[in-house]
Amino acid sequence: NKRIAVKIGTSSLMTPQGKVNYQQFDRLAYVLSTLNQSGKEVILVSSGAMGVGMDKLHIHDRPKSIPGQQAISAIGQSEMMNLYSRFFSHYNQMVGQILMTRDVVEFPESYQNVKNTFETLLKMGIIPIVNENDTVAVEELDHATKFGDNDQLSAIVANITQADILLMLSDIDGFYDQNPSHNPDAHLFHTIEDVTDKELARAGGEGSSFGTGGMRTKLKAAQYLLKNNQEMILAKAEDPTILFDILKGHEIGTYFSR
Ligand code: ADP
Repeated sequence: NKRIAVKIGTSSLMTPQGKVNYQQFDRLAYVLSTLNQSGKEVILVSSGAMGVGMDKLHIHDRPKSIPGQQAISAIGQSEMMNLYSRFFSHYNQMVGQILMTRDVVEFPESYQNVKNTFETLLKMGIIPIVNENDTVAVEELDHATKFGDNDQLSAIVANITQADILLMLSDIDGFYDQNPSHNPDAHLFHTIEDVTDKELARAGGEGSSFGTGGMRTKLKAAQYLLKNNQEMILAKAEDPTILFDILKGHEIGTYFSR
């Protein structure tokens, strides 16, 4: 596990009241800086531009129009990078921003360019922080009310960089046989070897109040990685220091591996 991609969702970076969760930014910066400075290569895929933008503008309801949402994302993305840049610098860690559209995989030249950028940043000891380029890609925002997500983008990033593992951090501690927020008897899977329609059917549809991906897009990400002989761990984002235990091999969350 030398090269690690980490994905964190909006609901893990904001408080339930919709404010920026500064402690969470700080802990994430501490953990990822520590890992990156102890011989690992770390890539962070972070959602949150819309949430951070709405907090900055004191807006409580997501604008209905796509241009309205894109404007807030534009404000939020630079504010979010400002936060990351400041918190990471406390741990003497530089970061670089990569804004991607998912179609890079379809254009060999773009694919090669973004791959080169990742490799160069990692070689320089810098942590790339990736988000979808919301102002260019309408897709994510379009889906946002249903399943707009960075989950599948993070799988693509893990694949482009050939990461040894994708650590998907969520508001839930793993994948269950049924939605645990509706069923107290739900049972956690420790390992999943294949994602088929049977697993997808256990994921239901809806996501969190921020309109993020839900379990389905996380399973889709896992499916994509498994198909490419890569691995993913789904675990709870609440305390990012669990990444240390996960990487020590402790059985935490759900491990997707063939
Ligand atoms: P994040 O915001 O961290 O990306 P989401 O809230 O979008 O995560 O998705 C996780 C949610 O998916 C869980 O909190 C849970 O309500 C829901 N869910 C639906 N089915 C399942 C399942 N089978 N196992 C775990 N969580 C599930």
